[in-house]
Amino acid sequence: MIVAMQDVADEKQIQQVIDHLVKMGFEVHRSTGARQTVLGAVGAVIDFDIRNLELLPGVQEVHRISSPYKLAGKGFRPEGTIVKLANEVSIGGNEVVVMAGPCSVESREQLFATAEAVSKAGAKVLRGGAFKPRSSPYSFQGHGEDALKLLREAGDKFKLLVISEVMEISQIPMMLPYVDILQVGARNMQNFNLLRELGKVRKPVLLKRGIAATLEELLLSAEYIMAGGNYDVILCERGIRTFETYTRNTMDISAIPIIHKLSHLPMTADPSHGTGRRDKVSPMARAAVAAGADALLIEVHCDPDKAWSDGAQSLYPEQFTKLMAELRMIAPAVGRSIE
Ligand code: PEP
Ligand code: MN
Repeated sequence: MIVAMQDVADEKQIQQVIDHLVKMGFEVHRSTGARQTVLGAVGAVIDFDIRNLELLPGVQEVHRISSPYKLAGKGFRPEGTIVKLANEVSIGGNEVVVMAGPCSVESREQLFATAEAVSKAGAKVLRGGAFKPRSSPYSFQGHGEDALKLLREAGDKFKLLVISEVMEISQIPMMLPYVDILQVGARNMQNFNLLRELGKVRKPVLLKRGIAATLEELLLSAEYIMAGGNYDVILCERGIRTFETYTRNTMDISAIPIIHKLSHLPMTADPSHGTGRRDKVSPMARAAVAAGADALLIEVHCDPDKAWSDGAQSLYPEQFTKLMAELRMIAPAVGRSIE
């Protein structure tokens, strides 16, 4: 941490800040220039609030240098994390893994037709909501365990792994036999009790960025899961709320290289929720792969015009097949592959 003192700060104020830093557990290095004194505080302390220092008399500004997370930070595993799934699929290696399927599981016919199409096109993981976090309590809330059974069956039939969203702690044990990845939705990114429980699970977790969450907050949420011993965390950018209304959310492509700089965890992009419009999903998926995404999460529906949720942002199977062909051209240009 760097503490810059005001040019008018007197010796007593400087000493008070030094004492405060030492009490916090830091070793303090002082440099006094012609006008100002700057204090460099080094140490292994990670849990502190810089505002407590900013409030001390004579302090001009305080900058945190070390990150507030340790397990999720790049330094914990500079070589990067590869999350190994079943069937020799892994996320974070050379291959960009595509997860695709409907927003929610509606019926056997809908799920199987969609699963067959995405599998043929080259997806490795089948997505589908069994528990749906909907803005309105009157909207379809998901078929629950029946949907999970269908997901497993369709996944096994079409050689796809399965990802589905877990909304609360009580659903975890019920979901474990059916899914290969547990998804934490944007609305639950800071449900710390849920994150702690997922830390006890030995199954990969895909953690979505909250609607108004900073990347530091996303990494701190990942830290909750990792602190429990579950290091198989996959992060996901799914668009954030901004003042732009043209798209449902603003897809933050820059989050991908930023996360790769700050963390060793693999990064996924969800251009479906990121844009909310079918016509913008493919361009953003292409951009995400070009920016270094390790995986994509894309909504595809066999008949999007009749979808029970998020039809407008779901690709037609033909669009998805075309997108996969485009991604297969883009991935090698950035040193990656897509099967
Ligand atoms: C979803 O993937 O179905 C979903 C609800 O996404 P998000 O949490 O990003 O809104
Ligand atoms: Mn959706």
